Amino acid sequence: MEARAQSVQSARRSKEDKKLLKRQIKASHTLLKHEGITTASEPTQCVVVCNGGLGNGVSREQLMAVLTEGGAVVESLLMPPNKPYSFASFASPQDGRSAQTRCHGRTLQANDGHRVTLYCSYVLPAVDRGVCECVSLPPGLCVLEDFVSPEEESQLLDAVNWTSHDDDVTTRRELKHRRVKHYGYEFRYDNNNVDKDKPLPEGLPSECDAVLQRCVCDGLISVLPDQLTVNQYESGQGIPPHVDTHSAFEDTILSLGLGAKTVMDFRHPDGRSVSIVHPARSLLVMKGESRYLWTHGITPRKFDVVPASAAERSGVVNFDPSDLTLNQRGTRTSFTFRKIRHTPCDCAYPSVCDSQRPSSPPCLPVARSDACRLEEQYVHRVYEEISAHFSSTRHAPWPRVRDFLLTLPSDAIMADIGCGNGKYLGINPQAFSLGCDRSVNLVSICAERGFHSVVCDALSVPLRSSAFDAVISIAVIHHFSTQ
Ligand SMILES: [Zn+2]
Repeated sequence: MEARAQSVQSARRSKEDKKLLKRQIKASHTLLKHEGITTASEPTQCVVVCNGGLGNGVSREQLMAVLTEGGAVVESLLMPPNKPYSFASFASPQDGRSAQTRCHGRTLQANDGHRVTLYCSYVLPAVDRGVCECVSLPPGLCVLEDFVSPEEESQLLDAVNWTSHDDDVTTRRELKHRRVKHYGYEFRYDNNNVDKDKPLPEGLPSECDAVLQRCVCDGLISVLPDQLTVNQYESGQGIPPHVDTHSAFEDTILSLGLGAKTVMDFRHPDGRSVSIVHPARSLLVMKGESRYLWTHGITPRKFDVVPASAAERSGVVNFDPSDLTLNQRGTRTSFTFRKIRHTPCDCAYPSVCDSQRPSSPPCLPVARSDACRLEEQYVHRVYEEISAHFSSTRHAPWPRVRDFLLTLPSDAIMADIGCGNGKYLGINPQAFSLGCDRSVNLVSICAERGFHSVVCDALSVPLRSSAFDAVISIAVIHHFSTQ
């Protein structure tokens, strides 16, 4: 009886082992295919830990604890940002071997709560695992640590009454991603500006006075701000990348972070991006280029990748994989102080300045809402207005498109996404052609011409996939406002 139980147990174990081996092989293949990393069949002193990466919510501290459990000495632990694996280099091949045996198949509770199984394979020692780009702060930006004391921090937080309903005194709104309250002037999200003639009856809370006086004394600002926006972010919430409207506010913008630290992302229009750790009780000062040209935003997520060695410090996240870990976000409240601008902005960045380009064509939108508004204004409305003229000037089909349509067999079903006045819908009368367009007027013209067509957005076509033999979309995508 006992022998049977044992054999059942060992059979179960070997089944588990097989499963583990299968997963390990799969993980090795994935590493090779996506990252070009080859695993070694013979033991080495370097081990790749699949599923033990920052990308699946495993922190440096957690992984280090597991790797060093049996006394193994880890010489370096590289954790590339956002990747689901890490590389541990051990002091000796014996240490590598013992860690591999111990950790392979181990389950860990990741920071976001789900369990992950670690798969460990040997790799050849490599000099370059992941990039370490040394970047500096955007010009004009600085972070002043410990700008307010813990006592001032609680006074400021207490000054915001989130439950008040006296919306005529201070405005409070629940935005999708965060709670927002305005003082001094209301910031309007529909036009990204303020009603400069309509100051709110209540100014900035008096609890801010001492902090703002300090900003003046320290030479950060010369005039006191008259507008305050308080944002409260729960863990997981963020704010889309944006530049504070030039014509609405003067140059220097002060943002005080309270409650918990976060990571803010700054982006230059040329594509450069810099992530900045903004610890609690520190003041972010945006001036000049960092205020006018770079966008800033907070990616909605529950964990940030931060340097492990300077856990409570501010500054640039250099993405050095030998020094990264995860920081769990808490509830963070930011006080952003701004001075309303009463004259047009004359900054040195006309390409992004709304004061200096009042009637020029729109610049590349940064927010989705801006993109939608531009597309509505410059595409959808225009086509409705010019549909008749447009139709009368669009009758000659492009020869290659016509040739293609004529190759379709008689029972073919063809869809034309963005069909305009339907000039391709009648080319091949043997095929069944269905058109769609965003313009109601153009679809009406199709209907008058006896074609099948519907009104819909080309980014959300209500047609079943794989139901058509041919689909065309001619001279359409340049109308999209986003990529
Ligand atoms: Zn400007």
